Amino acid sequence: MSRFPASTCTVIRPRDIEQALRWLQEDPTLTPLAGCTDLFVQMHAGTLEARRFIDLWPLTELRGIAVHRDLLVIGALTTYREMASSRLVESWVPMLAQASRLVGGPQVQNRGTIGGNVANASPAGDTLPVLAVAEAVVVLASADGTRRVRFAEFFTGYRSTVRGAQELIAAFEVPRIPGQQWFRKVGTRAAQAISKVVFAGVRGERVVRVALGSVAPTVVRLPATEATLLAALPMTTAAESLAAEIAPIDDARSTAAYRRQVAQNLLRRFWAETA
Ligand SMILES: Cc1cc2nc3c(=O)[nH]c(=O)nc-3n(C[C@H](O)[C@H](O)[C@H](O)COP(=O)(O)OP(=O)(O)OC[C@H]3O[C@@H](n4cnc5c(N)ncnc54)[C@H](O)[C@@H]3O)c2cc1C
Repeated sequence: MSRFPASTCTVIRPRDIEQALRWLQEDPTLTPLAGCTDLFVQMHAGTLEARRFIDLWPLTELRGIAVHRDLLVIGALTTYREMASSRLVESWVPMLAQASRLVGGPQVQNRGTIGGNVANASPAGDTLPVLAVAEAVVVLASADGTRRVRFAEFFTGYRSTVRGAQELIAAFEVPRIPGQQWFRKVGTRAAQAISKVVFAGVRGERVVRVALGSVAPTVVRLPATEATLLAALPMTTAAESLAAEIAPIDDARSTAAYRRQVAQNLLRRFWAETA
């Protein structure tokens, strides 16, 4: 039996984004609901304290993928299915299409959203390393207006972000990416499994960007490793640098030693396959 009786919950459904933001301002204890794929797991595990929810699902303003000026703009409610089948995503940021195809199974891909993945702030979120190396910007909306936060500054620690209780993630802005993109997820299975290690990389003429998930309390960019690769130092030096920049733990899915080894292997693969 669920430890979360539905009779103790209130769910309100706004007509449009303005109403949603006004309601959130009036009652910042409201928890946003998107696809519910993370929230339902927390409800059934009995770890979700919230009882008052605001349902974002009908808000068409938060959906869609489009190019505005020189940015790819992805609405927060965009699902993995939509990203995986989008020509724009495929041409602009193919590593995001690839990551989307590997999240959960078809049910999760139909309901799970990029905004939910980022707001949930799990270190294992598969889109997080991608957005980190894409140097995306998180667009946060509130009744007082909109602000933009660089992805690198969005997470403040384990499952914690700079998003205020009155704010919603409205969209992600992705600039053009100057180089080849590379993504790899290592889990128990190719898909339908949370990552043990997830890696995204960009390699251009004078650009190297590397980010990893599931190896620290939050997603990490590896500036020292990137500098080592840019300086064309030996791969053993880059791999040592990577090991110093991550802080994996032993948990139910894997061990710290395995994660460190896999992360180093992925770095070698990234470099060899983008040469
Ligand atoms: C079987 C299964 C397999 C899974 N596999 C994977 C996987 O392989 N990789 C992976 O990364 N994840 C996986 N997940 C986790 C989950 O599907 C994703 O994190 C998903 O993207 C969450 O999106 P959602 O729309 O369902 O979020 P929800 O569950 O609705 O919300 C998650 C959190 O984000 C907040 N939130 C949602 N949208 C917004 C917004 N626009 N603004 C502010 N806050 C918001 C909610 O309040 C909540 O705290 C899996 C989950 C399940 C159940």
